[in-house]
Formats: sequence, C-alpha cells, structure tokens
Amino acid sequence: MTQTHIKKRLSSRVESIQPSGIRRFFDLASKMDNLISLGVGEPDFVTPWNVREASISSMERGFTAYSANAGIMELREAIAGYMFNRFDVDYDPESEILVTVGASEAIDIGCRAILDEGDEVIVVEPSFVSYAPLISMAGGVPVPVGTKIEDDFKVSAEQIKQVLTNKTKALMICFPNNPTGAVMGKEDLQEIADLVIEHDLLVFSDEIYAELSYDEEHVSFAGLEDMKERTILISGFSKAFAMTGWRLGFVMAPPDLLAAMLKIHQYSLMCAPTMAQYGALEALKSGMDDVERMKQSYKQRRNFFVKSCAEIGLTCHTPGGAFYAFPSIKSTGLTSEQFAEKLLYEERVAVVPGNVFGAGGEGHIRCSYATSMDNLEESIKRIGRFIQSVGN
Ligand code: PMP
Repeated sequence: MTQTHIKKRLSSRVESIQPSGIRRFFDLASKMDNLISLGVGEPDFVTPWNVREASISSMERGFTAYSANAGIMELREAIAGYMFNRFDVDYDPESEILVTVGASEAIDIGCRAILDEGDEVIVVEPSFVSYAPLISMAGGVPVPVGTKIEDDFKVSAEQIKQVLTNKTKALMICFPNNPTGAVMGKEDLQEIADLVIEHDLLVFSDEIYAELSYDEEHVSFAGLEDMKERTILISGFSKAFAMTGWRLGFVMAPPDLLAAMLKIHQYSLMCAPTMAQYGALEALKSGMDDVERMKQSYKQRRNFFVKSCAEIGLTCHTPGGAFYAFPSIKSTGLTSEQFAEKLLYEERVAVVPGNVFGAGGEGHIRCSYATSMDNLEESIKRIGRFIQSVGN
C-alpha cells in the first residue's frame, strides 16, 4: 500500500490533530552546537538516589510482575497520606486513587471516561499542550478561554461564564500553570467553584506543580467545599520529584468516576510499571526533603530570571509556581514563532513560542528556568542582545 493510501485510512479524529508545536523547536535545536535550551518542561535534577535505589532493589527482589490494576496498595495508601498531609484532601486508597502512566494518562482516561461525542470542555489557556488534543481524541470539543498577563494569567468566573453552553460538561484548570506559572489562591478558586455548582460541571484540576508554589501555599481545588465530588484531581511524580522518565502519575476522583477510569486503564495499560511504583513509594516515604531542596533551587532561579528579564526590557509577571517564565515579547513587533525562530538561529537560545499553548499565548515565549545558573546568565545576555538588535 502506498503512503497516500495509508493516510486515507487514518481516523479523522487523529488526522484533525496537529503534532505538538514544541517538538518542532526541539528538532531544530537538537542539531545545534553552543545551544542554551530554555525549552524543555522538565527538572534538571536527576531523581534522588534513594528513589532509584528502591526501584533497583524491587527488581533485585524479583518484583517484576504486573501490580494491581490501580497500583500497588502500599503506594496508593502513601499517596492518600501524602495528599492529606500536604493539601488537606482526603481520598480513599481503595476506591478513589489510581496510579497512572504519568499525569498524561490521567488526563487521557479522565477525558475518555466522561466525554460523549460533542461534549464541550472549557480549557483555561495558555495551557499544557495535551489538553485540547486529548479532549478531541475522546470525542469532545475543547473550548478555550484565554488568560492575560494583566490579570496575572488568572481566570475569572465571568470569563468562563461567557463560553458556557448547554453542551459544557467540564472545565480544565491547571494551577500552578504550565506555561504561565500562574497560581490561583482560595478566593480566586472559590469564585470558580460557585460557578461549577451553579452550572453542574465536572472539573479537571491538574495539580502536577502543586509542590512548586513559591510564594503561597498551594490550594487544591478538590479541597474547596463540595468540589471533591465534582473533581478529577490529577498529579504525579514527574515534576516535584524529578521523575519524568519514570512515567508515573496518579489521579483521584469520586468512586464511580474512578471506576470508569480504571476500566479504561485496565484494558489499555493494565498497570503502571511496577518497578517505578516502588521508586515512587520511597519518594513519598523519604523524599520530601529533596522536594524542598529542589523547590528552593527553582525559586532562586526564578527570582534571578524574572529580575533579569526586567533588566533587559522584557515584561514578565512573577510566576508563582512551576518552573516557567512567560515574558511578553509584544514590544519587539515579532510574533512568538518569529521571535523563537530568530532567537534560535541568531543567538542559539531555545524557547517555546507562546502560541503553541493556545488562547492568550501569542505575544509571549515560555522560558523554562530549570537549567543551571550559568545557562540562565548566558541566556539573558543573549536574549538581551537579540532584543537590542530587533529594536534597531
Ligand atoms: N500536566 C502538566 C501541566 C504538565 O506540564 C505536564 C508535563 N509537561 C504533564 C501534565 C504531564 O506530566 P507526566 O510526565 O506526569 O505525564
């Protein structure tokens, strides 16, 4: 069969989806020397040794079989304890917690569990690039709501209200946010929770960056009054525990919703990798000092990067969490793609153009500051020089 024949046979759902815009820049950048990458969305730390050792030890002891579909019970119990202690949300390890292959799987099976053809999900953007495609592939329709730098990239109930229809089934939020670093406090979130009740919505709350909130305590959406029963709470080990390659996340939801997700998970994945689960168990048992150490390091780098952006004339709001800054490049007159591409070729600094993150992203670039201080200092020099040259 020719390639064109095969293409014709691909599902229209998959065909309608664009490959991730971030990848294109990685591919361009991967071939360059003397490159500084502020492009990647992952920690620059190696997973702490005790976690790696626990995983190795589980293999030495021969724990190489499938685990329970929902994850090993000890890990689910540890997750329940962790979520209660850290974020004041109470989930039953037996019926309300599922260990997934990254937060990515949690988002996917959450969408597939609740969406029928044509159901709308309001997505607060700029956002993680997977939400809209995963909603579409589950048959749903993503409906963007854009946030703005002037509002510190927070979303208001009023903005959400404006795009509600009788097909709206759920809302997708993520705080601390990728790519903006925005954080929403209790009062901000309460306004959204009131609207959720009024319009009988479900909520996906992606809280994978919960540990990386630098200036205020993270507030879990599921902890607000009456929200637990409506929330699919998503988290994972990738970010705060520096475990991206382990592919381990977890999702919490009311029993009926969790059972629906478990049904999909057991058929498509069976279980998350067993050896990774033993590592994660150790991370929860003894890894919180490491989380704090890495967090303080990101915070220091955030402070440096944001201050330096101001010094070279880039408007940047102070991101309250995650490890991204999302400065405005509007004053250069370039689109975010033009800016990122020219910066890459002329100064060898890789950033991600804001437009790939959806509504509100154009006019910005995402810079991940999870890289060495040397790299940050050098990147600031180069970006500063680039802005000067564009201005002349
Ligand atoms: N949610 C957000 C907001 C993210 O930034 C990411 C990773 N970039 C994920 C989910 C996926 O994380 P995981 O590695 O756990 O699949």
